[in-house]
Amino acid sequence: MSRVYNFSPGPAMLPEEILQQARAELLDWQGMGASVMEVSHHSPEFKQMIATIEADFRELHSIPANYKVLFLQGGGRSQFSMVPLNLLRGKTTADYLDIGIWSNMAMTEARRYCAPRLVASSKEQDYTLIPAQSEWQCNPNAAYFHYVDNETINGIEFPDIPEVGAVPLVADMSSNILSRVIDISRFALIYAAAQKNAGPAGITLVIVREDLLGQALPITPMMFDYALHAKAGSLYNTPPTFTWYMVGLMFQWLKRQGGVAAIEKINARKAEKLYRYIDSTDFYHCKIEPSYRSRMNVVFRLFDEKLNDAFLQQARAAGLSGLKGHSLVGGMRASLYNAMPEVGVDALIGFMRDFERQFG
Ligand code: PMP
Repeated sequence: MSRVYNFSPGPAMLPEEILQQARAELLDWQGMGASVMEVSHHSPEFKQMIATIEADFRELHSIPANYKVLFLQGGGRSQFSMVPLNLLRGKTTADYLDIGIWSNMAMTEARRYCAPRLVASSKEQDYTLIPAQSEWQCNPNAAYFHYVDNETINGIEFPDIPEVGAVPLVADMSSNILSRVIDISRFALIYAAAQKNAGPAGITLVIVREDLLGQALPITPMMFDYALHAKAGSLYNTPPTFTWYMVGLMFQWLKRQGGVAAIEKINARKAEKLYRYIDSTDFYHCKIEPSYRSRMNVVFRLFDEKLNDAFLQQARAAGLSGLKGHSLVGGMRASLYNAMPEVGVDALIGFMRDFERQFG
């Protein structure tokens, strides 16, 4: 069996050592004579495990004590509803910034609960940049300001945290959580689906400032109420126990790599070398403005798109998978999450060079 370098946008590559550990513990977890999938979420062993996982997450992102950490279900998309349901708090409007397909979907969902205002959009520029902050039409009375920190499909990432004054700042970090140091205290709420940087699909990480809880709209389904999940320690209903365990292995792995600050340097290097190579050729190109290029999802195209199928086929034969761009954008996308080693990026660049030599 040989493992590929998997550039898939999510579910994404996981470090081999955690897969090996999960395999080794599959039949007998913690001497219980059963796998973690088969034990009660109310058992002391499971509760101990999730307490450690929360502590590891808090340590990895230096999460201040006045923030709750929740492990929820429903993916990133459920958060598109949970955010307005919980954070409108008597207001009827919230600000949304549109820098890509996920930004747009979040705002569309919010329309079910309020009248969201678009502060700025780069849709007309084909989502190749982030509109200058001086052009944003922010509402100082908005219930919150929502933005997507890394647009997974379009390949755009915020270089810095936006400045929105006193309005509570909400970020979708589904595709870049744990990839760089974040000043959590600047945010009201951060959410992230796990299936990119934090483990397999099935869990959504939520970091929320305590004082914002307990004011959900009366129509809020109980499963969508942050306060209820916070009170229950994320055990309000039966959680995805195996995914939670895998997220825990991922956190331990990240700590062994030196934590978020250490992986941030590696991530910067991986992305920088791939963009540098793409920019150096007349065969591939990336249209995203350099200062907004995502370190996590490198979106690029071949100048001759007739070669796309051959590129993907040969890449797969060379042990490089998951490179096809999203159907709404086309072209190619190489997702370089934490688990993608630098040698994987070197292998991709080597392959791209060979392909260019063959057809260029
Ligand atoms: N937000 C972003 C930035 C994403 O990349 C995704 C999924 N790719 C989502 C939200 C939706 O996540 P899910 O599929 O878990 O609902």
